[in-house]
Amino acid sequence: MTSAEAQPVTMFPSIDERHQDTRRYPHGVAFMDGQYLPMSEAKISVLDWGFLHSDATYDTVHVWDGRFFRLDKHLERFHRGMAKLRMKIPYTHAEIESILSTCVALSGHQSAYVEMICTRGGSPTFSRDPRQAENRFIAFAVPYGSVANKAQMQRGLHVAISDTVRIPPASVDPGIKNYHWLDLVKGLFDAYDSGAETALIVDTNGNIAEGPGFNVFAVKGQKLKTPAHGVLAGITRQSVFDLCGELGIDVIAGDIDREELKGSDEVFITSTAGGIMPVTKIDDRLVGDGSVGPITKRITDLYWKKHSDPMWSTPIQYK
Ligand code: PLP
Repeated sequence: MTSAEAQPVTMFPSIDERHQDTRRYPHGVAFMDGQYLPMSEAKISVLDWGFLHSDATYDTVHVWDGRFFRLDKHLERFHRGMAKLRMKIPYTHAEIESILSTCVALSGHQSAYVEMICTRGGSPTFSRDPRQAENRFIAFAVPYGSVANKAQMQRGLHVAISDTVRIPPASVDPGIKNYHWLDLVKGLFDAYDSGAETALIVDTNGNIAEGPGFNVFAVKGQKLKTPAHGVLAGITRQSVFDLCGELGIDVIAGDIDREELKGSDEVFITSTAGGIMPVTKIDDRLVGDGSVGPITKRITDLYWKKHSDPMWSTPIQYK
């Protein structure tokens, strides 16, 4: 489908499968500049400040068995981020919901990874003044993806703690979901160099912060703890707080140092990309007895049960 053939927001265009380059692009549908497009055609200008300066915010919600999971919470965080960055788009909450839903419906995916993005855009006069930029909204739905693969979900991940410091909250507000990932990517390379599968990086005090795309929880006895400072307030992290409320498990946000994390009975990470994922090895030390623990399993089971609960999920109309 060419841009000239593209339809306005309210229509359901047919996305031409022949234009999907599945070698380079996942199968999916994007929305940008008022049009629905195959993923292979969703491209932005290299002059967009989202690309040039990482001047953007985004959010990611997942779809499981044809239902969005906690979409309202993702939309709220996205709108909060845009407001803090003084970005404006011409779509209401309800219109964004409809666009995301249409991307999923057009893609046909029953389980999807759905991203909404607002970039600063650019100024028509190439002004350096961000107030003159025309902000750009982009959304897309691609197949569901997870931080941990099937084998890692079963046996638990091997995580390395990197000395890399997460960008301080005084520099970039972690409450705004952002693409400032150079610290996280450095942490990942450090982890791979040490033979681990993913990374955790530290905050400015040397305590555990978060990893590339996830928060972390430590379990000691019947109590859970997750880092409080310098981390994204993940929606999955919030879900763990909510689920612990139902299960009668104590959970707090507070500082966790390296030794405390390594001495935990159980550790798990949380992300929209994968949900609740066990960690059974940190650096060269097994967590507990090195197997996935009972509290991690209980919370994981309830988390997936909630995916069909109308209080936690919204159905997609595939038409
Ligand atoms: N921390 C960072 C840096 C992230 O990028 C993400 C998600 O992408 C998370 C934590 C987990 O957040 P959520 O549970 O909302 O997916």
